[in-house]
Amino acid sequence: MLEIENLTVRYGNITAVKSVSLKVNEGEIVALIGPNGAGKTSTFAAMMGLVGIADGSVVYQERKLNRLSTERIVRQGITLVPEHRRLFKDLTVRENLRIGATARANKANMHQEIENLFELFPILRQRSEQKAGYLSGGEAQQLAIARAVMSSPRLLVLDEPTLGLAPLLVNAIFELIQTLRERGFTILFAEQNAYKALQTADRTYILRHGSIVAERDRGSSADAASLIQTYLGVQV
Ligand code: ATP
Repeated sequence: MLEIENLTVRYGNITAVKSVSLKVNEGEIVALIGPNGAGKTSTFAAMMGLVGIADGSVVYQERKLNRLSTERIVRQGITLVPEHRRLFKDLTVRENLRIGATARANKANMHQEIENLFELFPILRQRSEQKAGYLSGGEAQQLAIARAVMSSPRLLVLDEPTLGLAPLLVNAIFELIQTLRERGFTILFAEQNAYKALQTADRTYILRHGSIVAERDRGSSADAASLIQTYLGVQV
């Protein structure tokens, strides 16, 4: 579905992403893990046309995305939930969800779709008429993901979806990722919570200083905890 090959991203003299290659097959959950500044956000930004690609290629459904505008990339079926969520704080939860559908050609049945979405995100139904600025961190993250779902993507890209959330909410987001996959979405996400990501994803790439240093498929005999210790220097 998605193939990134030898992707390089530079900001002036800084090379943030160095020849990164990764793939996402339809229906998979794929994780990109690594510490702050490893290049996760830059990889996603390049994929979405938000920053330039210095070298390499991003191919989605056999179409090269290099040089396409972000709007056209979204229309191909990829939606990014950015790290800082970027909700419209003065608009209600429901209004934020309606805005999520603006990139979509077919806007019929929006009311019904929002109702269906509330089945998946019951807390958002309770908060539907409240302004997004008053949501807790976990609720805001759920709204950001729900808004992305409203654009009917095939590939949902989540940048650090559990950042700043309490442990209970972290678990809820990981469960949500699994539920979304069961509903037919393909998911690529960046995480600093390496252990949880390794448990959830079908394939995990470990990124350090802009390069992929290890890759692990679900079911691989490589032990998640020792992988994290070896490549990220963190004891689990
Ligand atoms: P974080 O979790 O902190 O966002 P990350 O893994 O997503 O980390 P990036 O944000 O992609 O990492 O950053 C990779 C490197 O590129 C870092 O060294 C960062 O300082 C640098 N960088 C990111 N954005 C810019 C920019 N706009 N201009 C200059 N350097 C940048």
